[in-house]
Amino acid sequence: MSVKCQVIIEAMDKMAPRSLAEDWDNVGLLVGSSAQTIHKILITLDVTKEVVEQAIKDDIDLIIAHHPVIFKSISAIRTDLPQGQVLSALIKANIGVYVAHTNLDIASGGVNDVLADLFQLCDVRPLTDNSRGKLYKLVVFVPETHREIVADAIMTAGAGHTGNYSHCSFATNGIGTFLPLNGSKPFLGDVGKLERVQESRLETIMSEKICKVVVKAMLKVHPYEEVAYDVYPLMNSGEKLGLGRVGKLASPIVLAEFVKQVKQVLGVSAVSVVGEQNKLIKKVAVCGGAGAGLLHKAAFAGADVLVTGDVKYHEGQDAAALGVAMIDAGHFATEQPVLSYVAEYLSKCADKAKWSVEIKVDDINQDVFWNY
Ligand SMILES: [Zn+2]
Repeated sequence: MSVKCQVIIEAMDKMAPRSLAEDWDNVGLLVGSSAQTIHKILITLDVTKEVVEQAIKDDIDLIIAHHPVIFKSISAIRTDLPQGQVLSALIKANIGVYVAHTNLDIASGGVNDVLADLFQLCDVRPLTDNSRGKLYKLVVFVPETHREIVADAIMTAGAGHTGNYSHCSFATNGIGTFLPLNGSKPFLGDVGKLERVQESRLETIMSEKICKVVVKAMLKVHPYEEVAYDVYPLMNSGEKLGLGRVGKLASPIVLAEFVKQVKQVLGVSAVSVVGEQNKLIKKVAVCGGAGAGLLHKAAFAGADVLVTGDVKYHEGQDAAALGVAMIDAGHFATEQPVLSYVAEYLSKCADKAKWSVEIKVDDINQDVFWNY
């Protein structure tokens, strides 16, 4: 089945909601049309000239990038300058660009969760508290005979999660009434006759990003022609969402050993390190890209080391003064790993919805820095 760009956007929005992006950021569909049919997707960190050339060769329709191809507002598209060349080539070749930047850094399953995953951290939580996920309550009235099947559909779609608990719901029984009017095809009762039915009021919670999916799953199995249900917003705080992650190593190791692991896991030949080689590392903070600004948050969270990129001299000095080790593994290397996770996520969406779309992870873009 062919798939429109808008459907891909909605899928990306489930993974990394645009509402999570920082105010200064520029995310979403930055080039192209949401109505375009998409056959081939390329996932990359940066929309460089080389990446676009390869995308044209490969007949790519949509590039999903981490860094915004348009960041600061532009007042000209000059085709004798790199950005203008990229934008012009994209438009001529009818290639769209969708960007998930700070929203992908913050999202669960995004850049920083991927790093935490690669270092096999346990008890992982964000370093900053950017926002709390919105929670909604779903209440549905269902004949008692169909309560279990409806509850099962709702829970399978992801509702009813609280902390380390799933399938959280509550049901009360009572009498439901309805009077089928002309033109109705009631599951129970007759047209023109007031019906009284033993029903359950089934209630549970769900996060904002799964509301539509849960309601759709519920409606699919509910026996009634017109389903009585309510979705209402809650004041309760949902999942803590923020930048960076901190978590514990399965077993403590010295900094020198941890550095070896970082190099191996991220596939880099060299890193810059602040800290004593034999410092014991139990708790690790990570932040993909330029994350030295989270040093104090990492220290406050009790981290022994912060793994990030783009560390400046004075930030290194601050780390030494705070007694927190810091590993600069590079901006590129700390963000690159998320690409295959995004590809995997979209492939699962494609399989589930039977989209005929090819998804490729970029292998052209390289770190601009190299070690001599
Ligand atoms: Zn970045």
